[in-house]
Amino acid sequence: MIKHSKKIIFLLIITVLIVILKFTTSDSSQKQSKEPINLPISKTAFFMGTVIDINIYEPVSDDVFEDVFEILNSIENKMSLNLNDSEITKINANSGSAEVKVSPETFYVINRGKYYSSLSNGVFDISIGPLVKLWDIGSENARVPSQTEIDNTIKKINYKNILLDESNQSVKLKNYDMMLDLGAIAKGYAADEIIKYLESKNISSAIISLGGNIYAMGVKPNSNPWKIGIQNPFSDRGEHLGIIQVKNKSVVTSGIYERYLEKEGIRYHHILNPFTGYPVENSLASVSIISDKSIDGDGLSTSVFSMDVEEGHKLIETLEGVDAIFVTKNNEIFITSGIESNFRITDDNFKLETLKK
Ligand code: ADP
Ligand code: MG
Repeated sequence: MIKHSKKIIFLLIITVLIVILKFTTSDSSQKQSKEPINLPISKTAFFMGTVIDINIYEPVSDDVFEDVFEILNSIENKMSLNLNDSEITKINANSGSAEVKVSPETFYVINRGKYYSSLSNGVFDISIGPLVKLWDIGSENARVPSQTEIDNTIKKINYKNILLDESNQSVKLKNYDMMLDLGAIAKGYAADEIIKYLESKNISSAIISLGGNIYAMGVKPNSNPWKIGIQNPFSDRGEHLGIIQVKNKSVVTSGIYERYLEKEGIRYHHILNPFTGYPVENSLASVSIISDKSIDGDGLSTSVFSMDVEEGHKLIETLEGVDAIFVTKNNEIFITSGIESNFRITDDNFKLETLKK
């Protein structure tokens, strides 16, 4: 009996010791979490054919990043041209025959895409799919097509034949050989959705980058504006030619350096002219658009890149709350009036110029 109670006391002491040990370790881990966290908290992933960088300048849990990546995954599943069961693939497969009911998200992006197609008089055109597929720039099958192939393909492009039914949320492509491609606008939409989500989590300071499409959310933790580097279109990624200071803005750049095919010393980049069927050829090397909404920045950067400096500058000046930085192949930089005091050149190979009236 005595032996037995000794055993019980021994077990009790062990249990108490384990509890104390557990308590002290969990206490110390609590203490650890109160120590300063290195900011930003950053995570990288790959969606929509590009590298996604999320940097949050506040303590946040891993769930936030998981939710962000889920948002990207869901947009990609709806809007990708390369997935067999995306809504865009369904619309394309039913071209010339049936209207397709889509999610409000896809309907919205197509609607905005059609708006920019019309605003740019068709140099931007989201029905450019057949031509993008023909060149396939950025893939290992990229090639320079024959003139006959180009002539046959550009006939298929016309955003006016994208028929949208707002009340049914349905989309129909008028002709059987049409194909939508939201590649020029979907990343901007995705950036806006991520920002909306972060706001819903009361996060107020973050930088997100979707393959160079940047959203600088809120301000820096010290309340100063963000300083965003504008990519030098002639050098490798990462080197910038200037800096723009912004608060809560999207900064989207389209340029000749993003994706290209090189054949016999000629570089063919990935923004195509729907009228000639060839890569856009003008004085521009890149255009950056500064705006509140990234879908607008993305739509406009590709549109204005296709337009050239004078016309593009004129267009951007008419748009409230939107600014642009134009970089030409001659290293000239032109900016719109709204950012004269926020933009600074950091590489003296470039010169700020003003447009002759
Ligand atoms: P990135 O995708 O490199 O950020 P953009 O936003 O400028 O660059 O979009 C380029 C993509 O848009 C191309 O890869 C192609 O899918 C599509 N595209 C190419 N030319 C046009 C055009 N004229 N109008 C609309 N979309 C285009
Ligand atoms: Mg774009």
